Amino acid sequence: MKIAFIGLGNMGGPMAANLVAAGHQVIGFDLTAPMPEGVGQATTAAAAAQEAEVVITMLPNGQILREVAKEVIPAMQDGAVLCDCSTVDVESARAVAKMAADRGLGALDAPVSGGVGGATQGTLTFMVGGPADAFTTVKPLFDVMGQKAVHCGDAGAGQSAKICNNMILGVTMLATCEAFALADKLGLDRQKMFDVVSTSSGYSWSMNAYCPAPGVGPQTPADNDYKPGFASELMLKDLRLSQQAAEGADADTPMGKLATALYAAFVEAEDGKGKDFSAMLPRFEKRGRS
Ligand code: NAD
Repeated sequence: MKIAFIGLGNMGGPMAANLVAAGHQVIGFDLTAPMPEGVGQATTAAAAAQEAEVVITMLPNGQILREVAKEVIPAMQDGAVLCDCSTVDVESARAVAKMAADRGLGALDAPVSGGVGGATQGTLTFMVGGPADAFTTVKPLFDVMGQKAVHCGDAGAGQSAKICNNMILGVTMLATCEAFALADKLGLDRQKMFDVVSTSSGYSWSMNAYCPAPGVGPQTPADNDYKPGFASELMLKDLRLSQQAAEGADADTPMGKLATALYAAFVEAEDGKGKDFSAMLPRFEKRGRS
């Protein structure tokens, strides 16, 4: 397939490289990031898009996505599909889908789970919103870049799934970190804590697969001085998107709200910026009850 790839940063770069390795023809555009080997370089996003059957975007936020979509959609050929894999607000995803539909083009919101490791290994999970025929067109590319693609519903459904998943992730990581900090203060050995909880009803991905305590459980960013991994500021971005969506939908999300406030304090008022989101464990440990 002829593919345009816009935004080749930490995630987009390896995703585009996997498409090239699978034999697809990829033309890329990024403001700063270099092109991976085998990806042709376009001088503008519109130039990259004009001959593509699928245009993939992997950008920092909804505002930038809207700007890029405004430039790219008029340049796309009839029948092409715009597939945004960034994590953005549900409103921006729906606005971009409408822009594409107004020009008679299919559009998907297809955010991912799996991080840079999943992008590199081609094991991402895609959660996808948009028309079924556009999903069918892009499915072979999801199969190259990932191990699973779930068609969640209409425009915005992919971002809705992503935001809900990451709200659960933020809340369970905080619960896991504060429980470890409490266990420490109660004199409980960390390995014993892991052995019990990871096979008891307190288990979760945050405990079992991404244990925030160094030297315990699988290798995680905790074993690498809390270098990300998944940075606290990215978790904060996703939690804020969940609260923006909750406000728009009049949904009661008190745990998500508190998680957002804790990560905001960690990133903006404390020393959390640039640290993995599991570094909440040393943060809790430094603090007393007040
Ligand atoms: P990144 O900052 O490494 O990459 C974004 C790229 O977009 C950069 O290279 C930047 O130069 C480029 N860019 C910005 N504005 C542009 C424009 N107008 N035109 C062309 N290129 C432009 O970020 P990332 O880690 O690759 O994340 C990308 C998206 O994926 C984000 O929405 C993020 O929330 C989401 N995501 C990231 C992870 C992760 O672990 N890093 C995991 C899941 C989802």
